[in-house]
Amino acid sequence: MVKGVKGDREVTLLLVEDEEPIADMLRVGFFYEGFRVEVVPGGRAALDFLDRDHADLVVLDIMLPDMDGFKVCERIRARGLDVPILMLTAKKEIEDRVKGLNLGADDYLTKPFSFDELLARVRALLRRSGRKGEAVVLSAGDLVLNVVTREVKKGDEIIRLTPTEFSLLELFMRHPRRVFTRETLLNRIWGYEYVGDTNVVDVHVSHLRSKLGDRPPRLIRTVYGVGYAFYPKE
Ligand code: CA
Repeated sequence: MVKGVKGDREVTLLLVEDEEPIADMLRVGFFYEGFRVEVVPGGRAALDFLDRDHADLVVLDIMLPDMDGFKVCERIRARGLDVPILMLTAKKEIEDRVKGLNLGADDYLTKPFSFDELLARVRALLRRSGRKGEAVVLSAGDLVLNVVTREVKKGDEIIRLTPTEFSLLELFMRHPRRVFTRETLLNRIWGYEYVGDTNVVDVHVSHLRSKLGDRPPRLIRTVYGVGYAFYPKE
């Protein structure tokens, strides 16, 4: 077992999308899911990025201003890169999907789609490609959280968490010893639009501690008058 916590933003997604509202939605969504996100507005910028940097997965829109997604896909493969590619298409024609897959895309999704659906596809592709298999596993002592399978284990015991508890634990494990204020946790987990009492944070932390059997000295410590911090056991 590796001690401490690893895996902070180790999976890089390259989003190739020129429509800003969609690009922004995906950027924020994937960021909060723990990915490193790079957004480029066109095909040429995508190829430039891949020439100088690494991506674990490319989410590629078909309708781009400079060259279409099929061409981008073809050029990525022509460079000998086997990065998984998920294509986004506004068109429903099956020929597009077939064309994309023939050119080397691994999966496609038809617009409009929900973020959760895209996230599930991205995770499935990353799992299939075996990329960063370990990087999405966070561990602290005998506590192991797998970001891809959404599984949390303490020793051999599987801990069943709600999505909110999972997100909280993931955030803590990605940032050991960092003190989070209740307001920060509200923003990060519940979102900026959430209007409510910060007590909701205390309630969820309390549930999380109880499910983890977290007794003093705790993993999730209360920093009085401030918030909470995660202390991995050595
Ligand atoms: Ca587009």
